[in-house]
Amino acid sequence: MILMNDFKAEPASLRDAMLGAVRRVLDSGWYVLGNEVAAFEKKWAGACGVAHGVGVGNGMDAIEIALRALNIGPGDEVITTPMTAFATVLAILRAGATPVLADIDADTALLSIESARRCISSQTKAVVLVHLYGQVRVMDAWQVFCRENGIALIEDCAQSHLASSHGKVAGSFGAVGAYSFYPTKNLGAPGDAGMLVTNDEALAQRASCLRNYGQSVRYHHPELGMNSRLDEIQAAMLAERLKWLSEFTERRRQIAAAYRSGIQNSRISQLKPPEEIAAHVFHLYVITCEQRDALQAHLLEQQVQSLIHYPIPVHHQEPCQEIKRDPAGLARSEQHAASCLSLPCHPQMSDDDIQRVIVAVNSYKGA
Ligand SMILES: *Cc1c(COP(=O)(O)O)cnc(C)c1O
Repeated sequence: MILMNDFKAEPASLRDAMLGAVRRVLDSGWYVLGNEVAAFEKKWAGACGVAHGVGVGNGMDAIEIALRALNIGPGDEVITTPMTAFATVLAILRAGATPVLADIDADTALLSIESARRCISSQTKAVVLVHLYGQVRVMDAWQVFCRENGIALIEDCAQSHLASSHGKVAGSFGAVGAYSFYPTKNLGAPGDAGMLVTNDEALAQRASCLRNYGQSVRYHHPELGMNSRLDEIQAAMLAERLKWLSEFTERRRQIAAAYRSGIQNSRISQLKPPEEIAAHVFHLYVITCEQRDALQAHLLEQQVQSLIHYPIPVHHQEPCQEIKRDPAGLARSEQHAASCLSLPCHPQMSDDDIQRVIVAVNSYKGA
């Protein structure tokens, strides 16, 4: 079976380096928010081209803390997409703000500016822009949109590790970028981890208080924060895994290029290719097909695993039926949810695996 992820197939030298990192932390006797976290924050912020990184417990908390650090909460509206991990919207709700869903563009599955414009109200304070599947697109337009409307741009970078456009890296375009290092992400920890990246020193300072009960200096709590600290073992292992990230990303791009040219089936469509190579890190390789479920069953018969990102748009989730949205509706998100399919695209795939996926996809003849 060709799997969506295969951590057990990772290079032995990477595994050894991670074990060495664990040993380093155990030997240090310091386990939460210490030198390893500080070092990894510095490294990751540097890789993103920003001044500050604040390590937190996970990607969802990174978004919630970003909103709270920007004073966005009850009474404020935040525009985002229904085609995302539920965590994006949950983070907005947890911050006490009101999510407003705009539709996507059909050819990229990314948030549509035109739809976002219809969602603006006097309450709007921010856009949480999700770089879905690993794509960074039209960032100039988003920066202009946010500036013109006097609102903050928050980037959900959970799927776009170091994707860049015109040399600028995901997370450096807006007020703050929120990264997840959940195991399956392009840079994943063997556990939960996340980080905010920003150029704003005051915001970074506030975020580092918020992640630790709202504590400013020891035992002083000027505001009510949360417990979302990054631990030393995850940070130390992430620092080792970061050394492999560019090679792994390169492999994802090779797989994507092979799929783009190799997949030729009239029943299947592909998303728009990136404008520059650097602007897509292929966290997921997504195709669309009217008979998606039949295609998925066919692939499984051919020993190819696949997943759907995402089968249920946020506004169809039970707690979100009444959620605010574009008055023109969210038809393109609904269409995408019904037709999208993610193919295996991870760095441990062999050339043979790639060809087997292509053959399996091309041999689909319809239900
Ligand atoms: C994974 C993911 C998140 C949440 O990250 P966690 O670390 O699981 O909390 C948020 N947004 C998107 C787009 C994601 O893919």
